[in-house]
Amino acid sequence: MTLQSVLEDIQKRPGTGDLIPIIDPVSEEQIGEFTDCGPEFVDEAVARAKSSFEAGVWSGMPGRERAKILWRIADLIDEHAADFAAIDSANTGMMKRQSELVVPTCAEFFRYYAGWCSKINGTAYDIRTSGIASDAYVDQHGYTLREPYGVVGLIFPWNGPIFNACAKIAPALAAGCSSLVKPAEETPLSALLLDRLIHEAGVPEGVINLITGYGHTAGAAITAHPDVEKVAFTGSTEVGKEIVKASAGNLKKVMLELGGKSPVLIFDDADLDKAIFGAAMGIFIHSGQGCVCGSRIFVQRGVYEQVVEGIAGVANFMKYGGPEEEGVMSGPLISAKQLGRVLSFIDEGRSDGVEIVAGGYRLDRKGYFVHPTVLTNVDPGMRLYQQEIFGPVVSILPFDTEDEAVAMANDTSYGLAATAWTTNVSRAHRIVKRLQAGSVQVNCQLVFDHDLPFGGYKQSGWGQEFGREGLDAYLKNKSIIVQL
Ligand code: NAD
Repeated sequence: MTLQSVLEDIQKRPGTGDLIPIIDPVSEEQIGEFTDCGPEFVDEAVARAKSSFEAGVWSGMPGRERAKILWRIADLIDEHAADFAAIDSANTGMMKRQSELVVPTCAEFFRYYAGWCSKINGTAYDIRTSGIASDAYVDQHGYTLREPYGVVGLIFPWNGPIFNACAKIAPALAAGCSSLVKPAEETPLSALLLDRLIHEAGVPEGVINLITGYGHTAGAAITAHPDVEKVAFTGSTEVGKEIVKASAGNLKKVMLELGGKSPVLIFDDADLDKAIFGAAMGIFIHSGQGCVCGSRIFVQRGVYEQVVEGIAGVANFMKYGGPEEEGVMSGPLISAKQLGRVLSFIDEGRSDGVEIVAGGYRLDRKGYFVHPTVLTNVDPGMRLYQQEIFGPVVSILPFDTEDEAVAMANDTSYGLAATAWTTNVSRAHRIVKRLQAGSVQVNCQLVFDHDLPFGGYKQSGWGQEFGREGLDAYLKNKSIIVQL
């Protein structure tokens, strides 16, 4: 299924709402369009999901049979790796090499969770209790059952379309749920190919239901729907809060993977070559459109000038361009809206007196490109320091002591990720405990593993994805007592 065929397919999808354009962020041209599916279509899709769940066509299938199908999905993703990479690169402008590297990790989500399908077990408890109606102790057998939530809504953003889709669909399928799958309106294309492969692999009709549309229409209809038991959402903290409010109607459970303003601490004992390159890539790759991007860098005073110069050097060296261009190290921002947002933060900083050491402007070419931007002389009270920009913009501040570095790192409403660069092992372990973030990396950035849970502290989220915790997110725990 090529880019051309998904562009044709998406035009045929049902919908009653407005036409939504699909824009190539490199050429700024419209490459396709589709109709916002609207609440009526969401109602129909929820009804299909509900009846598939109640009929047990998937939830009642033995775990080892579900596992075979998940494994088949992984193989099909691998077979279509080039198509997925081409589609996501065309839709997001992401550099080709990056799209190509992402696809195998997507297949791996299905293989990883295939392993869990046959291991969804409760726990046995030998208990002896009198209950509340009698004072005679009797033996009972207690146990727990792990049960799928039922109908779940999976809503995700544009920054890694196929990755975000697989990170949610694989554990939801492993658990036995039936799902509404809603990609971002900017990047719906690779989800169409994935949807086709999921069905080709043998997932029964009604279990996975693709919803293409805007967040405020289709997404909102999912989160407000009384038959949706749980919503697993990845996106901005702002929309995450709206989802919490919308879910109050039926008190649906909510998992949130939200934004970040992640700190990077570079100590004077760090391997500076690695730290400078790692911290620069940790914010400039994918034009800073990664939830874990390290957008606040704190550097011990003795090496501050050297690190600022080094990171600015990488910023000036990096070539930004489209997926088909030679030697490119990062792509564009996703949209004109995102470009305007990023530039407005930079302009505000400029008028507030920040020093722009590198970048600070839109590239003089077609496409939504901002030159990687390094800011110093930043006041922690500034909006650009406190809010997630989601662009290639970093603030670098000096610190003197470890205590000061930790306090500055934690001075944010977010708590998604944090990094420490140091060769002092004792310091590394001390720091890890003190950083208020759900994911902390030492001497590396942008690393993840399917087995290791991931999620945010503070306003960066509720719950965790990946690993066993990622499966648990789609399971309820029932406790049972049998009198012997
Ligand atoms: P967004 O919050 O605007 O949109 C995310 C998704 O929610 C889209 O599918 C959108 O259509 C939908 N949506 C929007 N309004 C909705 C509503 N009222 N009800 C239901 N759904 C709605 O986010 P974005 O701009 O697409 O993505 C960028 C954000 O995602 C950043 O904040 C980034 O940090 C975050 N993110 C977090 C993680 C993580 O794992 N923590 C990973 C990737 C991205």
